[in-house]
Amino acid sequence: MSGWLAIAGLGPGDDRLVTPEVSQVLAQATDVVGYIPYVARVAPRPGLSLHPSDNRVELDRARAALEMASAGRRVVVVSSGDPGVFAMASAVFEALEGREDWQALDIRVLPGITAMLAAAAAAGAPLGHDFCCINLSDNLKPWSVIETRLRHAARADFAMAFYNPRSASRPEGFAKALTTLREECGPDRLITFARAVSTPEQRLTTVSLGEAMPEMADMRTVVIVGNSATRRVGPWVYSPRSAR
Ligand code: SAH
Repeated sequence: MSGWLAIAGLGPGDDRLVTPEVSQVLAQATDVVGYIPYVARVAPRPGLSLHPSDNRVELDRARAALEMASAGRRVVVVSSGDPGVFAMASAVFEALEGREDWQALDIRVLPGITAMLAAAAAAGAPLGHDFCCINLSDNLKPWSVIETRLRHAARADFAMAFYNPRSASRPEGFAKALTTLREECGPDRLITFARAVSTPEQRLTTVSLGEAMPEMADMRTVVIVGNSATRRVGPWVYSPRSAR
């Protein structure tokens, strides 16, 4: 039997937000590969091997998955949210560079609901006008790049969604980001902290930039900063369809 590789997004947490396409491919898989907590979301069954691995070995994990697919296995590489957003899809394509044997494999990317979209829906519609999305982790890029992108995005009046805002190993980065945002956007701009969206621990908090504190974010939080027109209506936050 010929093997294949699917790179699938599991959505933000709630099983109902896993697409039918992803459920179907998981039901056909012989092997599931991914970061430990994401593989833990896949129900074990006879005939399915689970291969959980640590977070910092993305390329090794991608190569192991490609190796299994070329040996005839039906492999699903899982990410949370969408696999193309700060996740495994790019790592798999990077592993394909220079490997024509692997490039000939049956490889598919199956989209998922990414954290910022689930968070925006829970808050209202803060991404209803033009927006951008920035990974605040400086593991894979220098902080100066993050700072430049923050300033340009703010000056262009994009709403902004931030992934990986703050971790125990880099607690000071998000504080710096808040300082930069206050300089560019002023203290009244709305900022939403959306933690563990679509899970029982979901928590949504919207404050002004002036009130925002670094501790409001952790690695399970996606942060959304509005544009200059983003406002509250009742319990909701939204960005109007037209720019000012
Ligand atoms: N591929 C994933 C993102 C991986 S990066 C996606 O498309 O969603 C991991 C970051 O995603 C976390 O640090 C956090 O910022 C965000 N995130 C993932 N799941 C989340 C959830 N349920 N609620 C809030 N943020 C989440």
